[in-house]
Amino acid sequence: MRVKFWGTRGSIPTPGPSTLKYGGNTPCIEVRTDDGTLIILDCGSGARELGETLMKEGRPIVAHLLLSHTHWDHTQGLTAFAPAFVAGNSFTIYGAPGVNQTLKEVLASQMAYTYFPITLERMGSELTFREIGEGAFNIGDIWIATRFLNHTVLTVSYRIKAGDATIVYATDHEPYYPVLHRNHPPGAPKEGYGIRSTAEVVHAGDRQHIHFLYGADLLIHDAQFTEAEYKIMRNWGHSPAEYATDVAIAAQVKRLALYHHDPVHNDRFLETLEQHCQGRAAAQGSSLIVFAAMEGQEIDLPEQAGGQVVTRTPQMSQVHLRHKPRILIADNDESVVKVIHNCLQADDYEIMIAFDGEEALNIARQHHPDLVLLDIRMPKKNGYEVARALQSDPATQDIVIALVTVQTEEDDMVRGFEVGVADYITKPIHPAMLRTRVRSLLLRARAPEEGANSN
Ligand SMILES: [Zn+2]
Ligand SMILES: [Zn+2]
Repeated sequence: MRVKFWGTRGSIPTPGPSTLKYGGNTPCIEVRTDDGTLIILDCGSGARELGETLMKEGRPIVAHLLLSHTHWDHTQGLTAFAPAFVAGNSFTIYGAPGVNQTLKEVLASQMAYTYFPITLERMGSELTFREIGEGAFNIGDIWIATRFLNHTVLTVSYRIKAGDATIVYATDHEPYYPVLHRNHPPGAPKEGYGIRSTAEVVHAGDRQHIHFLYGADLLIHDAQFTEAEYKIMRNWGHSPAEYATDVAIAAQVKRLALYHHDPVHNDRFLETLEQHCQGRAAAQGSSLIVFAAMEGQEIDLPEQAGGQVVTRTPQMSQVHLRHKPRILIADNDESVVKVIHNCLQADDYEIMIAFDGEEALNIARQHHPDLVLLDIRMPKKNGYEVARALQSDPATQDIVIALVTVQTEEDDMVRGFEVGVADYITKPIHPAMLRTRVRSLLLRARAPEEGANSN
């Protein structure tokens, strides 16, 4: 498998003398498996030059374009991707659908008459759209698993296995909780504490993320911020490079490409960040290889010729919500209820409200919502008690529960996951992040935590 970076920059193209080394184009990666299959990860501005190169090959181009999501920096290159305008070429485009739009409609809207002279329909090549959720599918013998990330819009991470080589593409993702591991001994140095077990991960979302990355030969991970920057950039949907390094170590990944570089990080800054993360891995006794991805960089991963065919039953979670989902918001603070209600009302849900734990339980039993957003500290019954009651009753067991509360003790959170909640969302609520978390909870297959662990 050969991986080539055509665009490594996040948010907006940043060409110029200060970004010559790591590059200024937005996300686009070419993946060629040993059997010649062409996979393209995202279609940012880096896709323009990839397209020029493919055109020189002079034969019909067949490729699979795997989109993480439809934010501009990941799709803007489509309008400059020459092969897509040539009859005889064919592309299958994968990605999650929009909230009230299909994937095709979302991509077509960036090429509407007001913005671009040629519509998606008239591009020339054969475009096939495949909407995906969480799960797995095959492209020939290549096995691809998908998992939703924690971003401001539904975003998919891809785990690609061809022969014995595995890469994971995980960009536009923010930690589920600002602290990765529990019970960091007081006074212990932040670095150099040694490799931690995933059982010590505070938030189940981060733990599942690590399981998804497990053992990859190459992990391409969002590293837009430094830890210090992240303190003021929470809820923008991006990771500090330190988190990317720590999850890669915990997942026993072999190589980590720091990716989606912030537009304000010039070459000198990224060199320092790269060294900082290398030092962080070394201090934990990890053999992880860390580098900041450079535009033009190529990496060969052995697939071990003669490797066995990967056969798995392709399976996928829901892609579209089958009915109008019912959501119960339970919080004794009226202003919080209002904030959550306002966030979610754009998404066509039926919303119910409870102001104490007992009322929440009664409504849940009577109306069977798809999802309950529970505050922990409520009168009559607290959030844990409500969660436990719903979980222990076969009639309400399948209701998805998320606790929504102010950042509390790590032990509180661990306790929450132990009583069977699916997610733990901390206040203050950020509208886009909450909408996406709710969406992914509703779509997500209720799969065991291990996910792609064994692959
Ligand atoms: Zn992005
Ligand atoms: Zn994004």
